[in-house]
Amino acid sequence: MPDAPTDSDVHAPVTASDPIVGIDLGTTNSLVAHCTAAGPRLIAGPDGRTSLPSVVRIDPATGSPVAVGHAARDAAADHPADTIASFKRLMGRGLADVADDLDTLAYAVVEGPHDTARVKVGDHVLSPQEISAAVLAELRRRAEADLGVPVARAVITVPAYFDDAQRQATRDAGRLAGLDVRRIVNEPTAAALAYGLGERSAAPTTGPQRAGGVSLNVKVNPAACADDATGGDAPTSSPTQTIAVYDLGGGTFDVSILKLRQTDHGAVDQVLATDGDTRLGGDDLDRAMMDRIAPTPPASPADRQALRRCAEDAKIRLSTEDTAEVAVAAGGKTVRVTLTRADLDALADPLIDRTLAACTRALKNAGVTAADLDRVILVGGSTRIPRVRERVAEFFGTTPYTALNPDEVVALGAAVQGATLAGLRRDSVLLDVIPLSLGIETMGGAVAKLIVANTAIPARATERFSTYADGQTKVKIHVLQGERELVEDCRTLATFDLTGIPPMPAGLPKLVVTFLVDANGILSVQAREERSGRRAHVQVVPHHGLTRDEVAQMEADGFTHAREDMRRHRLIDLRLNARLDIRNITRQLERLGPDELEPDYRTQVEADVAAVRAFVDADDDAVDPDAFQAAMEAMDRGTLRLAEVNIAKTLKGPERGNAG
Ligand code: ADP
Ligand code: MG
Repeated sequence: MPDAPTDSDVHAPVTASDPIVGIDLGTTNSLVAHCTAAGPRLIAGPDGRTSLPSVVRIDPATGSPVAVGHAARDAAADHPADTIASFKRLMGRGLADVADDLDTLAYAVVEGPHDTARVKVGDHVLSPQEISAAVLAELRRRAEADLGVPVARAVITVPAYFDDAQRQATRDAGRLAGLDVRRIVNEPTAAALAYGLGERSAAPTTGPQRAGGVSLNVKVNPAACADDATGGDAPTSSPTQTIAVYDLGGGTFDVSILKLRQTDHGAVDQVLATDGDTRLGGDDLDRAMMDRIAPTPPASPADRQALRRCAEDAKIRLSTEDTAEVAVAAGGKTVRVTLTRADLDALADPLIDRTLAACTRALKNAGVTAADLDRVILVGGSTRIPRVRERVAEFFGTTPYTALNPDEVVALGAAVQGATLAGLRRDSVLLDVIPLSLGIETMGGAVAKLIVANTAIPARATERFSTYADGQTKVKIHVLQGERELVEDCRTLATFDLTGIPPMPAGLPKLVVTFLVDANGILSVQAREERSGRRAHVQVVPHHGLTRDEVAQMEADGFTHAREDMRRHRLIDLRLNARLDIRNITRQLERLGPDELEPDYRTQVEADVAAVRAFVDADDDAVDPDAFQAAMEAMDRGTLRLAEVNIAKTLKGPERGNAG
């Protein structure tokens, strides 16, 4: 079998010698990502930010780009006629097509040869492809700097409704930036690929990959699996999935209904319907916020630009906070406004109504109902707004996917497609079982496992918890993955807060945490406080950024450290109980006066407590858990009478104030 992969092929580190990167060339923001065996990852620029505003400033004297991205966007107010934003709207279009957009663009758009829309800066006329190329070239430089190799190939995404001319213009832009565009992929399809949808039924092919789902099905020594590269069952084929992608970006809204199907050559999409509004997005919300903050708009362009920034900034803060303070210069004085989440919701609602009307039309045109959908995916920065999430969930009757950042998911999916084309199949970690245990942090740094490794998916588990402090109104939920017993040895998947719990004594709130891993391997964690009905929710892709080898290593670590981990977990529990007991005993001692408890007995109780406290305070290594437990038991026995005396005192009647 000359073609059979050898074990070293299978485990060879994936080098990016001639990578195919994935690019989301957005109307507002553009991103570049690269996919290795560990999955796709975004590439940041020199400023550490992954998103590059799709804005280019052209020097009116030379007609060449002088600033790209944040630099161009931030100085837009000073160079309105030379700063080209939203050029994606012009790609592959004629002047008549874009007539409606012209009044929103601050630069000149003129008619070029063959009925094409062009940009005019100074005396220079540029095609939207040339402007796009400046953004693509910057992304290409970032990728080269990050990967350390030349980058000459890319997958670029476009909206599903782009026609042939718009797609061709996008290819041409890539070529101008020195990129061979290997494929143009629909943005909604890319989002679905990032979530691994349409990947399950991949027929095993020859090549450097292992058949899916074999080695980790059973919990065995991972080393024993290392050479089963050629064996294994053919993965079962999964049916076509019907997916809705709701994409609310900066200036556009798109909804796409598509079918995704797997073939030997990767996922194939069929777009059933698209709808939307090319003039509806986060920018509209910024404008509504501006009006709300300063009903009379500032006269100077610089002040208007500052107000716009403030408005967007407040909008973004209100996605995670309940209020946002804004201070802006307007009409020669500083206006201070406090905006609330409810204000944002009220401004967003009419916009959301319009998006949902488009969703209704798209479903109708696709000939499906919401109930026929396998998944709804959220895309675009504006879907971070909680109100948008709520209403989309309500409309489709299902919780949409948000595990991946909505403004990054398209670029990630483009990179997945790039890796497939480059022949590097993503070493996707198992989809038919949960490869590593999933749990949450409990007091003292231990991990409570809700779903253990090798559970078949879909899987669900629920666990009840309570609070440890009196009057606690907030609980932090820390979601972890791994086989080890302590937080520090596991991998953090997410953290989120459950807030607004009414103050109650410790132990009284009823916290219910539910883990749900669906058929695509996406984990949803929900925390609910039953007395108040407060809830919070997070979604993650548990294996994002992990290779199979890393999974195997984490599994192996669990075996290696099992005994020591158990000891430390036991110590954590002992310490926790000891602290609670000591607190309780101390309170009981304080309640009783010298005439109510013999001094000798008090001294003995204090000695028992001191003995336990010594274990609590000692270093882990110095503590024998059995001795610790024995001291606890001695303290328990020794304080039986203390408890009795206290109960007797309570029964005698209400305590007197200790004044006097
Ligand atoms: P596009 O696809 O049009 O290039 P993006 O997906 O990058 O756009 O979305 C950009 C929009 O998302 C902007 O209007 C921005 O203000 C908005 N946005 C980004 N983050 C948040 C947030 N946390 N809350 C609300 N809106 C946000
Ligand atoms: Mg986008």
